[in-house]
Amino acid sequence: MSSQRLIDMHVHSDNSPDGIHSPMYICECAVKNNLGAIAITDHCEVDKFFTEKYNNMIFHSFFECSKARSAFEGELLVLLGLEIGQPLGNKALADRIVRHHNYDFILGSIHTPHGFNCDIKEIEYDKIDVYKFMEDYFLQLTETAKWDGCDALAHITCPMRRIQGKYQIDFDYSKIKAVTDELLRTMISYDKALEINTSGLRQKIGLTMPDINIIKRYRELGGKLLTIGSDAHNANDCGKGIIKGMEIARECGFENITFYVSRETLEIKL
Ligand SMILES: [Zn+2]
Ligand SMILES: [Zn+2]
Repeated sequence: MSSQRLIDMHVHSDNSPDGIHSPMYICECAVKNNLGAIAITDHCEVDKFFTEKYNNMIFHSFFECSKARSAFEGELLVLLGLEIGQPLGNKALADRIVRHHNYDFILGSIHTPHGFNCDIKEIEYDKIDVYKFMEDYFLQLTETAKWDGCDALAHITCPMRRIQGKYQIDFDYSKIKAVTDELLRTMISYDKALEINTSGLRQKIGLTMPDINIIKRYRELGGKLLTIGSDAHNANDCGKGIIKGMEIARECGFENITFYVSRETLEIKL
C-alpha cells in the first residue's frame, strides 16, 4: 500500500451502465492518484436485475476485477465489491446475488425509492414535500441497514444532490431529526458503516453525502465504522475528495477509517 494510505471504497467501472472505464484502466489511474486500495463497486439494481441485464454486468465486473487484482498485486489492493440497489425489493434474490461471488465489500443503496418509478435524480423535488420524502427515504435505508447482505450504506443523503444542489431548497435537517437518529442508531446496532461519499464535492451541492453534521451525529451516537468513497464513474475521478473526507472524519472525532476484505472489517489509522 502507498505511504499515503488512501483508500477509495466506491468506484464504478464500465460494468455499471453509467461507468466509463475498464477496471484495468481504473487501477492504472488509481496508482497515479496515490491510492493504496480501491473497491470497485459496480451497480446491481435488484428490481431491474434481469430486465436490464445486471446479471451479466456483475458477472463481467467480478471477472475483470479479479484479473485486475492479480495484475496490480503489490502495487494496489483491488477489492471486489458491489453497490446493490433496493435489495429489500427482492430480498431472496439480493441474498443470492451477494453470496454468488466472494465479494470483499457490499454497499447498500436506495436509488429508486418506494412509490417512485424513477431514479432519485429524476424526481421533481419542487413538486413534492421534501421533508416527507426524506423521512420515507431514511426509513427505507433503516430497513436496509438491518439486512446482513451489505456492509455499509452508500450516500445516505443522496437526494440532497438535487434538493440542495439543483433545486436550491434550503433543507432544515432538524425537522427530520428523529428519523435521522433512528437510521444512524440502526446502522450502529447492525454494524453498518457510514459512507462519506465525496461525489457531491464535484457537483453543485459542494458537500459530502452525508454532510459533516450527520457524520458528527453518527459519531456522537457511538458510530465507529466509516468508509470513504469517491463514487467515481470515470477513472480520472478515482480518489477525488478522499483526503477531504479524511479531514472531515478527523474533525468529527474519528481516529480510523474502515475498509473490508472478504466482508471483514479492517481499520486504518487516519
Ligand atoms: Zn449510488
Ligand atoms: Zn455508486
